[in-house]
Amino acid sequence: MASGPSPGAAPRPAARSIRATLLCWYALILIATIGAFGALLYASQRRALEGALDDRVRAHARALAAAVEDDAEDGIELELADDYLAAFKQEGAEQPYFVVWDRAGAVALASRPGLDSLPAGAPGLRARGEFREALAAGRDGLLVLTGEHAGGVRRTLREFLVILAGSGVTALALALLGGFWLSGRVLAPIQRMSDAAAEISEANPARRLDVGATESELGRLATTLNQAFDRLQAALERQQRFIADASHELRTPVSVLLAGAEQALGRERDAAEYQETLEAVLRAARRLKGLIDGLLTLTRADRGSQRLELAPVPLAALLCEAAAFLEPLARARQVAVEVRGPEVTVAGDRERLLQAFSNLITNAVRYNRPGGRARIDLVQQGDWVEAAVADTGPGIAPEHLPHLFERFYRVDPARGRAEGGSGLGLAIAEQIVRAHGGTISVASTVGEGSTFTVRLPADPRAGRARSPPSVSAP
Ligand code: ADP
Repeated sequence: MASGPSPGAAPRPAARSIRATLLCWYALILIATIGAFGALLYASQRRALEGALDDRVRAHARALAAAVEDDAEDGIELELADDYLAAFKQEGAEQPYFVVWDRAGAVALASRPGLDSLPAGAPGLRARGEFREALAAGRDGLLVLTGEHAGGVRRTLREFLVILAGSGVTALALALLGGFWLSGRVLAPIQRMSDAAAEISEANPARRLDVGATESELGRLATTLNQAFDRLQAALERQQRFIADASHELRTPVSVLLAGAEQALGRERDAAEYQETLEAVLRAARRLKGLIDGLLTLTRADRGSQRLELAPVPLAALLCEAAAFLEPLARARQVAVEVRGPEVTVAGDRERLLQAFSNLITNAVRYNRPGGRARIDLVQQGDWVEAAVADTGPGIAPEHLPHLFERFYRVDPARGRAEGGSGLGLAIAEQIVRAHGGTISVASTVGEGSTFTVRLPADPRAGRARSPPSVSAP
């Protein structure tokens, strides 16, 4: 059955090509520019030609006015060269003419008949139909009128208009062709970028856009996009590694659980054997729970769905509580735990901070030597509170330090697992400290021990640190 758009769905607007839009705007601007330029040229040409005609007519009128006189004996005479006058005497509707009126207003001389009426008004320029005329006063009360047909000017202007329109259309066509070619050249890299971006996939994550000329805007865009793709690829790889590590970590306790159950069910066993198997199963289940809790904590934090319940937290009391909670472990490992420093208050989520410091103190106890010490020093420095968790353990080689807060990173994987750690303790501690606006750092000397320093903003509502120092020892 053919499927059409669902009745409620809004129709998708047709995609408009950038090239077509560019060309449309380009054509509009060109037409407006060429049109305005042509109109200006035409107007100035017209003014020049009509001005030249008027000058000519006026010059003729003045020449005739200067050359005509009313002689008492010979009557009205026109003293001009025959060549000059010949131009007025030709036949034709568009030929120039002149008329001379005497003082009485009667036509004394005329280049052609039918021009009897004395024009009203002062000397100057005027129009008569298609003709431009100039009236000039001569000597002895004579009046001279010359006229010239404007047809020549009109024809010249019409030809000029045709040339203007032709060259305008040609310029427009050439400019549009150039624009079409240029826009194609400019947009081709965008098409190439789009093709290359389409090729980037999970199967081909390393494919990148061709940066070309880095100084151009498109080069910069390609660089920015490539950097975004790099970040996405790194995030994808991190996620893949995280999933692989998590599966690997989960597999061990699940295998222990399965083996324990299979062993117990395999044949009849005595009570001691069942107890032993159940204890192993319980340990594996606890480990599994620890891992799943850790993973859930980090995933919630990644999603931003973990809300902090902020309240003033006295940190020395909190550290003493964590130390007391870990006392059985510390005693079993023969490690002395000590909290030193004044009471300082931070604005934080008590439970989360307790979790972060418990992870650090657990590590300080676990990765320590029998008879060693784990010391937590608390100080307030201005607006910051600093808690340094130091141990007398084996220390960490410098090459491991940058990776220590990564999920599932272990300096010695076998020992880490044997110690019962999930490989998530430091990642969780770092995430909690960061969520509180603080920082966590590590300094270590191989053979001497390690110090994990947490810096947290002090609670602005609380006063300065209060003495006396709080101390806890196993
Ligand atoms: P784990 O659960 O394995 O302890 P963590 O994230 O807490 O995981 O620690 C990561 C790794 O860092 C540990 O496996 C261990 O190798 C190393 N580490 C952490 N704390 C210390 C410490 N105080 N001294 C020496 N190594 C440590």
